[in-house]
Amino acid sequence: AQPLISVRGLKKYFPVRGGILGRTQAQVQAVDGVSFEVAKGETLGIVGESGCGKSTTAKLLIGLTEKDAGEIVFDGFALGPRLSLKELRKGVQMVFQDSYATLNPRMTIEASVAFGAKVQGLDNPEARARKLMERVGLDPARFAHRYPHELSGGQRQRVNIARALAMSPRLVVLDEAVSALDKSVEAQVLNLLSDLRKEFGLTYIFISHDLNVVRYISDRILVMYLGEVVEIAPVDSIWERQAHPYTRSLFSAMPSMDPDNRTKEPPLAGDPPNPINPPSGCRFHTRCRFASEVCKSKVPVLGGLAVNAGHRVACHLYDAQSGHPKAGQGIPA
Ligand code: SF4
Ligand code: MG
Repeated sequence: AQPLISVRGLKKYFPVRGGILGRTQAQVQAVDGVSFEVAKGETLGIVGESGCGKSTTAKLLIGLTEKDAGEIVFDGFALGPRLSLKELRKGVQMVFQDSYATLNPRMTIEASVAFGAKVQGLDNPEARARKLMERVGLDPARFAHRYPHELSGGQRQRVNIARALAMSPRLVVLDEAVSALDKSVEAQVLNLLSDLRKEFGLTYIFISHDLNVVRYISDRILVMYLGEVVEIAPVDSIWERQAHPYTRSLFSAMPSMDPDNRTKEPPLAGDPPNPINPPSGCRFHTRCRFASEVCKSKVPVLGGLAVNAGHRVACHLYDAQSGHPKAGQGIPA
């Protein structure tokens, strides 16, 4: 089946000023050659440390940030002459972490939710807004005429979800959408999102630093490191076998994971390298305990694992042709 969205070689460098008097021009390689597809109705989780390019990837998808290179194909049409940014934005909505900043403080909840429907030129936007409020668990009789500051964080995030749905999107990009919520509220909002996906036939890209949250909601997980994809796999497959050394470190740092199932991997040393001047070859080589000479010079390509071709990893420990781990390298088969 045709994916709802696919990106190929997506790239974004941000110019920054450095050096004495800020005269040196440098580039932050925020997203550097990212490719993936998301099927209709699927949820793809994206994980990685802060600064790995998760949020920039999200903004590129929705056109909030302009890409330097690469292709975005939405429902069979490539962004460009055949698909305008305006048309893309109709199909994609975004929900951010900060539920307050994205709502107009002087607009009532009903007006905020109805706004999207009005932009779309839909009939009776207020009635539609009330229906959606009800669906996300906010009784219109109680909440329609309230203002954002009168709501809790969880209630505001429900408003943001209703507002996104009012635009009739097909893809919703959720960037740390539940990260600011208490655990109990977080669980409720995650359940709501799962239900809404089925009910409205939505596709999600779910960005989070919290692996347990991503596991709960996602069908597949994509791991980013310094602007690149290092591993992508179905949830069960990556839960069972973290193939990339970086993924292993991420998982072993997870607090609440079942201790029996836990990767015995020492925690990551140091901070991620500066994305202005990322390491050569495999960008993870400065922090990888398996690194060898080839890792410093040769960029590993994403290849399917022998056990599951849908599970792909970019690491020289694996044979690019067969997908088997190379002998004697320390990574279990
Ligand atoms: Fe480590 Fe080399 Fe694999 Fe990179 S390619 S993750 S440095 S073993
Ligand atoms: Mg972010």
